[in-house]
Amino acid sequence: MQFIDLHRQYDQIAGGVQKRWNKILEHKAFIGGPEVKELEEKLAEYVGVKYVIGCASGTDALTIPLMAYEINKSDAVFVPSFTFFASAESIRLAGGTPVFVDIDPETFNMDSVDLEKKIEHVIKEGNLNPKGIVAVDLFGMPANFNGIRKIAKKYGLFILEDAAQGFGGTYDGRKACSFGDIAGTSFFPAKPLGCYGDGGAIFTNDDDLAEKIRSIHIHGQGKDKYNNIRIGLNSRLDSIQAAVLLEKLSIFDEELVKRNEVASQYSRRLADYFEIPRVLNGYTSSWAQYTLKAENSEHRDRVIREMSKKSIPVMIYYPIPIHKSEAFSDIESWELSNTEEISNKVFSIPMHPYLSDEEIGLICDTLISTK
Ligand SMILES: *Cc1c(COP(=O)(O)O)cnc(C)c1O
Repeated sequence: MQFIDLHRQYDQIAGGVQKRWNKILEHKAFIGGPEVKELEEKLAEYVGVKYVIGCASGTDALTIPLMAYEINKSDAVFVPSFTFFASAESIRLAGGTPVFVDIDPETFNMDSVDLEKKIEHVIKEGNLNPKGIVAVDLFGMPANFNGIRKIAKKYGLFILEDAAQGFGGTYDGRKACSFGDIAGTSFFPAKPLGCYGDGGAIFTNDDDLAEKIRSIHIHGQGKDKYNNIRIGLNSRLDSIQAAVLLEKLSIFDEELVKRNEVASQYSRRLADYFEIPRVLNGYTSSWAQYTLKAENSEHRDRVIREMSKKSIPVMIYYPIPIHKSEAFSDIESWELSNTEEISNKVFSIPMHPYLSDEEIGLICDTLISTK
């Protein structure tokens, strides 16, 4: 069994991908080809934002906006510790200082009450200037943007939505990648919308930010690539990847329906035995992951053992909170108790649109047998 089955998905799109790839092999505009522009336009329409700029990875899709905000070491950017490393790594790459915020144990997303606590703490200490927030749509459900927006406004902070896992989720009738001042997503193959290599995209409605992002992602270009007005990166989405994404985008909504069906089946069968993931009122999830909580770390070890006997892949997202990583050992962090507790309990089970009823049955029966 596959954790994310890219084989079964490829069967759905093989013809279309091959046709588009053949066209690219003919026109040979591997960088900046017409596929990239077509994809950027379709993504802008899908999400409902004015500008979409493709880039080389999800990490760059966070780093480039943070570079556009011209943050420096004395600027605090608030970010959850329970997320993929890149959410905080990008803050450092852009020159700022991450300040870690705890999560709501029900949604796994940033706790807006703790966000305000951490902002106040930073202000009281007086070493850093609160500058921005990286809000992560973890496991596919958008962050609590209602709460986060109010706090951002009160303290004058920008919001960068890390929608690497969120693409396809909604909140309040709006799609992920449209929240905050600017958003970044990842097209890493295992994400809800993935390509066949590395890729990412940046989304915003802000004219000035969009212009800056376009410049930064190609060597800080001005009028053209040889007129450099700032330090940038070489971070482009290429035509071959854009072609894959165009084909995948055309079946994405059908896949979302199937992902939701898989999640409902899991939840229905497991609710009496496990604390199942909760999708709050007003939200939908793209189900980037289906994540459960074991009773404790011993129970989680038992789950992994029993599942592996049946060749069912299980992943732990995330075993080490970022504030505990060696890379950030120099950063001071304050109380993150939910994060620390949750990281000892969580595990994620196979989640993709092509899981069969038999596979879902085997996964649930095996999980229930560990209780
Ligand atoms: C995957 C991921 C990223 C980074 O994306 P890459 O394309 O791998 O660089 C950033 N944030 C989150 C939450 C992610 O899951």
